[in-house]
Amino acid sequence: MSRIVYVNGEYLPEEDAKISVFDRGFLFADGVYEVTSVLGGKLIDFPGHTARLERSLSELDMAAPVDMDTLLDIHRELVQRNQVDDGLVYLQVTRGSDGDRDFVFPDAAKVASSLVAFTQSKPGVTESAASKSGIRVISIPDVRWGRRDIKTVQLLYPSMGKMMAKAAGVDDAWMVEDGEVTEGTSNNAYIVVGNRIITRQLGNEILAGITRAAVLRFAREAQMTVEERAFGIDEAKTADEAFVTSATTFVMPVVEIDGEVLGDGTPGPVAKRLREIYLDESRKAGI
Ligand code: PMP
Repeated sequence: MSRIVYVNGEYLPEEDAKISVFDRGFLFADGVYEVTSVLGGKLIDFPGHTARLERSLSELDMAAPVDMDTLLDIHRELVQRNQVDDGLVYLQVTRGSDGDRDFVFPDAAKVASSLVAFTQSKPGVTESAASKSGIRVISIPDVRWGRRDIKTVQLLYPSMGKMMAKAAGVDDAWMVEDGEVTEGTSNNAYIVVGNRIITRQLGNEILAGITRAAVLRFAREAQMTVEERAFGIDEAKTADEAFVTSATTFVMPVVEIDGEVLGDGTPGPVAKRLREIYLDESRKAGI
């Protein structure tokens, strides 16, 4: 059965879904996106994702193509039509097409933004082998633009980062600027030193992860100590443990950085506990 995707008001088999070659998402990476996890057929952290989408749109002066209630309906419809139990919904809004290529933004009153959404099924995603073994990362320079707080579709460098990791025989890369870790290629980065959970403070240098917000809230509720500050790649290599968070990997333990093994080389207790709490609470709160 072919996947049903959403394109500008229509639900279509994926092979019939079309976007203009002049779409600014295609020509200029002039678009933003969100990825919402689906567990047991329920959307995880959906209000957080729509709030961040609205912020990304407003930072780029891009019109919302539909209101957020309609967006929820679209997500639910796609989950249902594609019978997604565990997986995700990917959503992308671009500034649309005014039928030519021009650096200047088209008049938003004349050119509608475009909205595309599709699902990916990932049966058993919460029991992945990586979550049991932990992942290995390398550090790479962060050469992205200065507005990483906006969730744009300019993902070429993160994609190159994953390829650098692959070439090095590891799972992912942490990006480093002025000796300090910004974030992972598609996740927020954390270290644990003693009883302290340390993750970079929010700012233009990183994406404000929706999973990050939830995990930090759960950590504080469980009386864990959280420090939101920049940490060095050298500090990370001597940490007791490390982990990353994202909507698709939840809390994922990191067991090696640039060949330096953390602790005993297996997922640490803080990462394991936060993963459990995050998955339990998120399933309960899913809509
Ligand atoms: N940072 C970057 C660069 C990302 O691409 C992502 C995932 N899209 C995250 C952090 C994590 O964000 P979230 O928890 O909202 O998935």
